[in-house]
This record gives sequence, structure tokens and C-alpha cells, in this order.
Amino acid sequence: SINNCHPPVIYDRPTFQKSYGNYIGGKFVEPLSGEYFDNSSPIDGENFCRVARSNADDIERALDAAHEAKDAWGKTPVAERSRVLNKIADITEENLEFLARCDTVDNGKPIRETLAADLPLVVDHFRYFASVIRADEGSMAEHDENTVAYHVHEPLGVVGQIIPWNFPLLMAAWKIAPALAAGNCTVVKPAEQTPVSIMEWIKLIDDADILPDGVLNIVQGFGPEAGKPLAQSERVAKVAFTGETTTGRLVMQYASENLTRVTMELGGKSPNVFFENVMDADDEFFDKCLEGAAMFALNQGEVCTCPSRILVQESIAEEFTERVVERVKNIRVGNPLDSETQVGAQASNDQFEKIKNYFDVGREEGAEVLVGGKVAKAKGVAVAAGGDGEPANKGYYIEPTIFRGHNRMRVFQEEIFGPVTSLTTFKDEADAIEISNETLYGLGAGVWTRDMHQAYRVPRAIQAGRVWVNCYHLYPAHAAFGGYKKSGFGRENHKMMLDHYRNTKNMLVSY
Ligand code: NAD
Repeated sequence: SINNCHPPVIYDRPTFQKSYGNYIGGKFVEPLSGEYFDNSSPIDGENFCRVARSNADDIERALDAAHEAKDAWGKTPVAERSRVLNKIADITEENLEFLARCDTVDNGKPIRETLAADLPLVVDHFRYFASVIRADEGSMAEHDENTVAYHVHEPLGVVGQIIPWNFPLLMAAWKIAPALAAGNCTVVKPAEQTPVSIMEWIKLIDDADILPDGVLNIVQGFGPEAGKPLAQSERVAKVAFTGETTTGRLVMQYASENLTRVTMELGGKSPNVFFENVMDADDEFFDKCLEGAAMFALNQGEVCTCPSRILVQESIAEEFTERVVERVKNIRVGNPLDSETQVGAQASNDQFEKIKNYFDVGREEGAEVLVGGKVAKAKGVAVAAGGDGEPANKGYYIEPTIFRGHNRMRVFQEEIFGPVTSLTTFKDEADAIEISNETLYGLGAGVWTRDMHQAYRVPRAIQAGRVWVNCYHLYPAHAAFGGYKKSGFGRENHKMMLDHYRNTKNMLVSY
């Protein structure tokens, strides 16, 4: 939402531990590697704790714990597993503000988002899977008068789950809840950029003593050192990965060594398509369109479904573009702990540099900057001392930016993962569909129209796993989410996801 909170509040930073290890077999343990890395907050770029830099030995240790727990957890009655998931939801909800602050400090995302979206969605996700697992009774069919076909579900056993940094707790919840609901034990590898909020979360779960030891294990560290041995292990029955398409390809290669099944939630370059008839709509709807067009800046653009391409029909392009630019100029970039901040800090210095580099790429290939295009002067953020020229903010802040150009440009084709979108025009519906699909990716899309036939036809023609029509960036637990094309395969959310976490056994029984 871009509505302001009143009165404005600056939230406190939580008190963090100086050092975080791993969580394995129900215990907080130091890494066997003996190594740690420094973890900083993108709010100011300062280190605030160190975190285990785990290796293959740590992964083995977590897999030992998970394997020890798997038979008992797999046989735990569904009602009990459901109770545990509901309890996790309750604990998360009771500590929602604290966890929101942890996520905000570690990732740089605005507190208004973590409070109103990320954490409530984590809670709801656990409740959803606690519920659907109860309503999943299996099936039985009579084959002939003496023979019956039963279908029963069995957990896979131990799974490996690799998490990205853009929604640290939510992306973890998307994976953990269905895995546990289906009766699996898991080894989770968080992203090295955002390792902390999940450790604060698991401390709360551990204190409540509701989860048997070894069911959920968390191993911190870098992709090639901790993620790779997890994906490569013959002791995981499935690898669930969310991250970049290039990393996904590697993870699939590792998993293929043991024919381990994988699900892949990868990158995107989602089109957000505005048809001319939105201009004739009432003010309320038109305002919703403008807000939808500005959604590319949500979560600093670090969203796999970021509407990073705006497609607007030629006949309305001039006026519509002007109104969107006006809207984007008013977005407030600032201290993520300030409740008024709409766009916070990019999650890491690497990400910050990558986005700045795309500003050069866009300009060099002739894209016009309609708004933004540079580092932001963020409100309420400390200023770095020294240096020449204008004093700059500490931390990693970028102005919401719109490029104008054509769909073959790199800024239209490559995932920037910043508050940056690229705008182009189309002639008619067929043209809109063609441009929308002219991408390697197929994760999300937005379609804005008042024509009910168009509102069905166009989404059906766009090659993407999720199409929002007259809305954007809604993520209810009951709506299946996942990619077409190079955006991956498998689905998250929705009860169909349970099938990614279990085997189906058929028994034909003759009585
Ligand atoms: P990333 O690929 O750099 O890292 C993701 C995870 O993979 C991290 O935990 C990382 O440590 C690990 N990793 C890195 N190299 C590895 C290796 N060689 N072996 C095993 N693990 C390895 O991605 P990111 O930068 O953290 O996240 C941003 C990306 O994630 C974007 O491309 C975004 O579109 C995508 N994403 C997709 C979805 C979705 O549901 N489709 C959701 C969120 C983010």
C-alpha cells in the first residue's frame, strides 16, 4: 500500500545477538567449519552480527538430525502436525512486530510492508497448510466387486530448501509450511544476505518446545559452500529452490546427480499491460491503475514478479505516462524503520551496484529516463562522512525509475531487481500479447482493462504462471504461484503444492 500511516512511527532496531550459528537437531550449534561471515544492515551498510559460514560437514550434520527425526514425524498423525503448524502461526503472530523489525533491519524493506504483508502472510501460510492437510482425506475407488484401489500419500522424507533474500521469512514460510504439513523433515539454507530474522524466529519456536528435534534444521552460509552440498546430497529426496535462473540451473545440475526431484521458483520480467479503455473508467478505477503501474517500486523492486515492464496502448500513452510519472515522483524513499517510508534500502551493496550499472546500460542503449535514474537521497538516513562532492546516504537507496524504450533493450529483457521499470507502447491487443511474451521469463503479468472479454482473452494468451487482472502483487496462500518458461516449474502456495512434497502410493487390494 502507498497510503500513509498516522501518526508516523520510527520503529526501534531489535537487539540482535553478536553471533548466530546453525539450528540443528533442536539445538543452536556453532558451525563445524569454525568459520563466520559478517552480516550488515542495508539501512546503513554497517555490520551488526556475524553468522555461521557453514560447509558440507554442517550440511551432513543437519541431514543426520533430519533423518533421525523423519520416521517419527512422517508417522505423526495429521491432526498433530496440523496443531504444530497452527502453533507456529500463533507464535509468529504474537511476535509479529518484533519479527517485522528483524526482517526490515536485515533486508532493508519498509516496516509498513513487513508489518502489513510479509509477516501476516507468513502466519496465514502456516494456518492454510495446517488446514488443508486436515481436509486431504485421500481417495478410494472400487475396481470390481472384489477389488479396491486406494491412493495414499507418503512423505518424501528429508528435503532441502534454499531461500532467497528478498522476502526472507515469507519465502522460508512458503517452503517450510507445506514440507512439514506433508510429513517431511527439512534442512533450510537461508540467503547469506538475510540470515538473521529466521534465527530470531526459530528461537521463538524453539522456546515454545512444539517442534520435535530435527524436523526443521537451519544451516547458514553461502551458496557454493552450503547450498551446493545440500542440493548434491543423495540424502535429500527433493530440493526446493528459489533464486536466480542462473543459480537454478546449477542447483538442477547438482540435484540431477542423484535424480533428486526439484522445484524451481526463478526470475521474471513481468509485463504490466494497460489498455486504452482504462482512460474512460471512473476515477477510482483509474487511480487503481496508476497505483498498479507504480507497483514496480514495491519491495524496492526486489520481487520476482516485479512489474518491470509497463506496456501502454499508444492512444493513451502520453497522458497515462505523465500521470504515472507524477505518481512515482511522490514515492517516499527513506529509512525502512520509518512507517512513512514506501521504498527502503536495496538488500545489499552488490544489488545496489548492479542496479546503478543498469542505469548506465539503459542510457547507453538509448533508453530515456522518465523519472529517477540515480541514487536516492533517502529521508531519515545517516549521511556518510568524507568523500568528495555531495554527501551521500549511508546504505543502499535508489530512486524509483522509469525507462522508456523498446522491448529489445537489455533494460526490458534482463532482471534488474531494483525499483526500475521500462515502459513501451503497443498498438492493439495482438501487439500487447506479442510484446508481453517476448521474454525468456514467464512468472507474473498484470492486465488492466474494463473490457470483460479482453480481461479473459489476454491473460489466457500471456505465457505466465500468475496473471493479475485489474490488480497486482496479491499473494494469498490459496492461489497457486510459479513459473512458465525460464521462470521455473512446480508451484508454491495452494494445496496442490502438497504433491511436490509427497509420494502417491496406489494399492490395488483384492478382498
Ligand atoms: P540467488 O540465486 O543468488 O540465491 C538464492 C539462494 O541460492 C541463496 O540462498 C544462495 O545462497 C543460494 N545459492 C547461490 N549459489 C548457489 C549454488 N551454487 N548452489 C546452491 N545454492 C546456491 O538469488 P537471490 O539473489 O537470493 O534472489 C533473487 C532471485 O530470486 C531473483 O532472480 C528473483 O526473481 C528470484 N525469486 C524468485 C521467486 C519465485 O517464486 N519465482 C521468489 C523470490 C525470488
